Amino acid sequence: MLANYGFKDGSGSFFITIDTDKCDGCGKCAEACPEDVFEIGEDEIDPFREEPVAKIKKEDTKKIKFTCAPCKPIGSDTPLPCVTACEPGAITHSW
Ligand code: SF4
Ligand code: SF4
Repeated sequence: MLANYGFKDGSGSFFITIDTDKCDGCGKCAEACPEDVFEIGEDEIDPFREEPVAKIKKEDTKKIKFTCAPCKPIGSDTPLPCVTACEPGAITHSW
């Protein structure tokens, strides 16, 4: 299941997507993110899932474009700490 966190505005679409089928709840994204946007917890989409899953904190979803800006300037292809830390490749960004 793809869980999308973010928003759209006139300048584009700003979502972080976590593939919950790939995420094993290891927490390495949370350790790597300098802005502390990840939390590891219960899967609210799939209540039958037993292992924890990564999510973006609710307070960060509406401002993710700005929160991520220091390590993800728009148009840059610099490797991102969260994506690099995630060995199963569960994290993608829409911008
Ligand atoms: S690093 Fe990847 S696999 Fe680990 S909790 Fe984060 S999203 Fe899930
Ligand atoms: S791009 Fe940077 S600030 Fe945004 S979630 Fe990834 S590590 Fe955190």
